[in-house]
Amino acid sequence: MQYQSTRSSRIRFTSMEAIKQGLSAEGGLFVPIEIPKLRTDELEPLINRTYQERAEHILSLFLTDFSGDDIRDCVYNAYRADNFSSEEIAPVVPLGGSLYCQELWHGPTAAFKDMALQILPHFMTTAIKRTGEEKQVMILTATSGDTGKAALEGFKDVPGTFVLVFYPQEGVSAMQRLQMVTQEGGNVKVCAVRGNFDDAQAGVKAIFRDTEINSELSRMGYQFSSANSINWGRLVPQIVYYFSAYLDMVKKGYLTLGDSVNVVVPTGNFGNILAAYYAKSMGLPIGKLICASNENNVLTDFIKTGVYDRNRPFHTTISPSMDILISSNLERLLFELADGDDSQIRSLMDQLAREGSYRVEASALKKLQSHFYGGYASEDETRAAIRQTFLDYGYTMDPHTAVGKKVYDDYVGETGDSSKTILVSTASPFKFPRDVLSAIKGNECILGREEADLLCDLSEISKMEVPFPLKGIKARPVLHSNLCAKEDMRLEVFSAIKDKVKDI
Ligand SMILES: *Cc1c(COP(=O)(O)O)cnc(C)c1O
Repeated sequence: MQYQSTRSSRIRFTSMEAIKQGLSAEGGLFVPIEIPKLRTDELEPLINRTYQERAEHILSLFLTDFSGDDIRDCVYNAYRADNFSSEEIAPVVPLGGSLYCQELWHGPTAAFKDMALQILPHFMTTAIKRTGEEKQVMILTATSGDTGKAALEGFKDVPGTFVLVFYPQEGVSAMQRLQMVTQEGGNVKVCAVRGNFDDAQAGVKAIFRDTEINSELSRMGYQFSSANSINWGRLVPQIVYYFSAYLDMVKKGYLTLGDSVNVVVPTGNFGNILAAYYAKSMGLPIGKLICASNENNVLTDFIKTGVYDRNRPFHTTISPSMDILISSNLERLLFELADGDDSQIRSLMDQLAREGSYRVEASALKKLQSHFYGGYASEDETRAAIRQTFLDYGYTMDPHTAVGKKVYDDYVGETGDSSKTILVSTASPFKFPRDVLSAIKGNECILGREEADLLCDLSEISKMEVPFPLKGIKARPVLHSNLCAKEDMRLEVFSAIKDKVKDI
């Protein structure tokens, strides 16, 4: 299986090269040149398999230059029992009616990013070893809250790598911030940026293309790579859990093999829902892909009109990991909708860079709408969804998942489609105890309470245990307190490189 850039079909790489590089040199994203197919009868043997066995099977279809043994090692090192609080890794919980929640937050940082970031470092070190790469890798990451911690945790003390994470100063929850600034490890650095996530992401993308930094890095024996979902190695493990959710539902008798399901995905950078689209393209019986946004509803408008327009106010919300106006992975979907016409993608991305907006062709819009439904939730609607789900089902959701629940209700109301539906739950409610508690019990119950008290309160109300990674977080020392202007992100990179020189 070969990979090409969305912006140039002449650039072809193996999956190992695509994963090592992260982003293609001319700014495009790596995509598989064809999508492997699985017939329904080929799914049958996977029904009674474990998550790890299913992962081995799906991953081997895409990562054809990895040996079977290498894939197995990556999978079993990532999805270990001591790393995930559920043996099923990504369990499916019936909520009520036709709705099922797939909980993707049982990993070491309590958000779905672990599903990919626990395995990406293994892909990367395997690729480095097998390709005889002499350079070490500097992982540069912009985070809207959850990727940063998951990348730090995944790459912590992994030989041959160094991780630098930028997060928007005012754009992450108190718990997300605490998780990052207390990160341990000899190869990690965390820096806050004055600005929002789009600023941080734009800064990182510019650094990737900065020739001066690249040559400095190269002299040091390093090359950049990305742990953001622009990296194919982030996306491909996410395809696995859609198969796994479906197979689990068949196994438990909620579905008959071949039945179609809808999926609802709380969306920001469009990585998670794109993985669902790839699963559907491979042959997994998925009906509608329901794309749920918060008040940063650029994708809702895009799916409704075919016009992508980021020229709008940026909202800081209680679902911060979806506070994004430039959804990077949409570029990969555009490539699919344009039947792989790289010149179209170049021109759309040029327009986006120049004017902040573009319109897709009528044929592409029609295709888009045949697969996707888009909707969004306001802040009050998100809080109401947390509360109502708690009252109706006794189930406690985080704000991101609640955005998905609200949009699901809208979709059913509008279409009357009562198909079985998987709502992917992207974070543990314990990452957002303040907002979840106040949505359920009212504002009084959070007044004067500290983050650590709130965890206990939430545990009592939800009857869930505090996830192991968040226990005792308050007692950990703050190890990272850097703050920079968005123009100065490159200086932070230089200083990280210089620190490395001192080490050598
Ligand atoms: C990252 C994140 C999202 C958005 O996922 P994308 O792949 O960027 O669309 C949603 N919810 C949570 C909790 C996240 O961490």
